[in-house]
Amino acid sequence: MGASGVAVVIEDDDDIREVVHAVLEASGLEVYAAGNGIDGVDAVRRHNPDVITLDLGLPDIDGIEVTRRVREFSDAYIIMLTARAREVDTLQGLSVGADDFVTKPFRPRELLARVETLLRRPRGSKLLSGSAGSTTAELPPAQALNSPTAPTTVISGAEPSGLEHNGLFLDVATRTTRVDNEEVQLTRTEFDLLQALMEAGRVVRSTTGLARWLHAREYETGGYVSESEERAIQVHIANLRRKLGDSAQSPRWVETVRGVGYRLAAKTSEN
Ligand code: CA
Repeated sequence: MGASGVAVVIEDDDDIREVVHAVLEASGLEVYAAGNGIDGVDAVRRHNPDVITLDLGLPDIDGIEVTRRVREFSDAYIIMLTARAREVDTLQGLSVGADDFVTKPFRPRELLARVETLLRRPRGSKLLSGSAGSTTAELPPAQALNSPTAPTTVISGAEPSGLEHNGLFLDVATRTTRVDNEEVQLTRTEFDLLQALMEAGRVVRSTTGLARWLHAREYETGGYVSESEERAIQVHIANLRRKLGDSAQSPRWVETVRGVGYRLAAKTSEN
């Protein structure tokens, strides 16, 4: 399976960096590599990649700080490479805006599979359609939203279509988000999760289902989901709430359904 796009590999270990570089390049990506954090941030600025693989332990600034800096100007997918024992690092990385992680030691093919998955991630509407089998079909949002359980307003003109709920507006075509008419910057993963929740409306999306979906596994039935992957979803949701200014206790948008997952909060009466 080939990929296309630009990747930046940030890794201080020469052997690992060369292997990752070679594997990504062989899959069709245009690859730039950097051996430390500062050069890595520079490379991202210069090459505007679609995806970044980022080692957490770097000689100058660590992967957490790299993620922080990159997120000031880039919404590239960030996959962190982390040591298995340090889950706390993984969660911290996700909380500053990384999308996914691969634990060391890993096989290069495994990393490549993650990269390709991110670059091909199905959009939220695939989640609502739910069923297995259609790996490529993407429903137009308006069609997916014809469900009576979805309280979200579908705004569709000739061109752009969007989702609106309690003063939150997602423009799916331009991937922009506005809260009470103020633009909010979300990472791609946060946007994808939010779109999935908005399209599902009051239907609960389970944490495991969302994790499977983010990793492009079969939504309803297939695929083992690790505890870390579930926790990653919780971190992404926490980030989302923080950026939207939402509250877990009295949610305007993202409501927690204890022990299960998340759904869209009820429509407020003003709307
Ligand atoms: Ca390292």
